[in-house]
Amino acid sequence: MESVEWRNRKTREVEKRSITALFSMIGAVPNSGWLEGCVACDAAGFIKTGSDLSTEDLERAQWPLNRSPYLLETSLPGVFAVGDVRAGNVKRVASAVGEGSIAVSLVHQVLAE
Ligand SMILES: Cc1cc2nc3c(=O)[nH]c(=O)nc-3n(C[C@H](O)[C@H](O)[C@H](O)COP(=O)(O)OP(=O)(O)OC[C@H]3O[C@@H](n4cnc5c(N)ncnc54)[C@H](O)[C@@H]3O)c2cc1C
Repeated sequence: MESVEWRNRKTREVEKRSITALFSMIGAVPNSGWLEGCVACDAAGFIKTGSDLSTEDLERAQWPLNRSPYLLETSLPGVFAVGDVRAGNVKRVASAVGEGSIAVSLVHQVLAE
């Protein structure tokens, strides 16, 4: 590679620089817009779970249970979030898989209530 040219989408300004290597940072924006009003998310759109849910989050979501949300449980009782889309997740394959297996046991716990 010899150069990179980019365009500022707001100002339409085009800039070209001599750059010989490029690291593409992709996949960092959660596709969670469709959940708006369903579960509490942080300002960047990642789903809040467990102790990350504030008293205000739970009041806004009208949390109906006497218990607090479980680890990985969203502001909607019995609905869990794992992996990259979850606020606080470390964005690695191993953590997504691990959280998934933890969520399964928590689902059983909820079903037993
Ligand atoms: C460029 C890049 C490099 C990475 N390198 C590493 C690495 O070296 N090591 C590492 O451990 N991790 C790496 N990661 C992170 C790793 O890929 C993620 O942590 C992992 O894939 C998270 O798994 P996930 O199942 O939570 O999410 P994803 O793998 O993103 O899976 C979510 C799935 O849901 C689908 N989806 C989204 N919205 C909807 C919808 N509305 N309806 C139905 N389906 C939907 C998506 O298409 C996708 O298939 C990298 C990530 C990126 C982007």
